[in-house]
Amino acid sequence: MKEQTIDWKNLSFGYMKTDCNARIAYRDGAWGALEISESEYLNIHMAATCLHYGQEAFEGLKAFRGRDGKIRIFRLEANAARLQATCRGILMPELPTERFREACIEIVKRNERFVPPYESGASLYIRPLLIGTGAQIGVKPANEYLFILFVTPVGPYFKGGFSTNPYVVVRDFDRAAPLGTGTYKVGGNYAAGLAANKKAHDLGYMSEFYLDCKEKRYIDECGAANFFGIKNNTYITPLSSSILPSITNKSLMDLCEDLGIRVERRPIPVEELATMEEAGACGTAAVISPIERIDDVEQGKSYIISKDGKPGPLSTKLYNKLRAIQYGDEPDTHGWTTIVE
Ligand SMILES: *Cc1c(COP(=O)(O)O)cnc(C)c1O
Repeated sequence: MKEQTIDWKNLSFGYMKTDCNARIAYRDGAWGALEISESEYLNIHMAATCLHYGQEAFEGLKAFRGRDGKIRIFRLEANAARLQATCRGILMPELPTERFREACIEIVKRNERFVPPYESGASLYIRPLLIGTGAQIGVKPANEYLFILFVTPVGPYFKGGFSTNPYVVVRDFDRAAPLGTGTYKVGGNYAAGLAANKKAHDLGYMSEFYLDCKEKRYIDECGAANFFGIKNNTYITPLSSSILPSITNKSLMDLCEDLGIRVERRPIPVEELATMEEAGACGTAAVISPIERIDDVEQGKSYIISKDGKPGPLSTKLYNKLRAIQYGDEPDTHGWTTIVE
């Protein structure tokens, strides 16, 4: 596709073919050289462990073009570290941070023409993937793996401006068990959530809202995003063994400390939603997706977070601050961005 033909303003969160992707194979106990491929397809064995037993991990991060024309990748090292944690969780070999960095930078550079212009509010989504490719039928970790990294331009999350959405508590589905794989970024957790997500969409909600699956008393996650609530100048986010450690959430907590907003990480009883002044779902896709209300249909409750339907002041401040760092409009005092040169 020619650069001139990309309609930057109307990109969605979809897949667009770019010029190339990266692959690094793991064989005989070692990672091989970075290979650049122009193919969008993989040729893998039908008995690969990723296909049968879910030995699969992924990541999601973004590159942004600044007003200064420079491209910044946000929190590359943190994403590399989280992929390594997932690898430890499902017994896959860890890709060293240096190799992850090499693949990210090389593929973003080679696809520079797909990095949206600053004015569009769009960005380049980076999707690293690690799969077990060794052929076997017995249930055990594979002996061979493939790391793949591709990029695709994605549109601004808020097309009509930063806005709030309704969520619905799902009490008849669990995303991940307390001692399961909820803390790892694996595809299986997403398969487990598809039915709950469809139910929420069919009922007209933005997304499903999960409670802890043991007691159904505490808040876990908002679909595939972390939850935070704000009250009394305090940012409160769940402490749970079944949620994914969101890097956006961690970044927002660090920004809160910079801005003099207290941070609490603790179990949050669902009824405490009634006292929240603001709340949001956070993740790489939207940074913050502010919550308008959360309906707990089975309990006959509706927690209205935003009375006027607008995002709250601290959520707006945090959103603007994080976006400003991503685009290079404000200084990166935490060393979160990697400039692609
Ligand atoms: C990826 C993901 C998030 C968000 O993590 P970020 O690092 O902020 O993008 C939250 N919850 C789940 C289940 C996820 O998979």
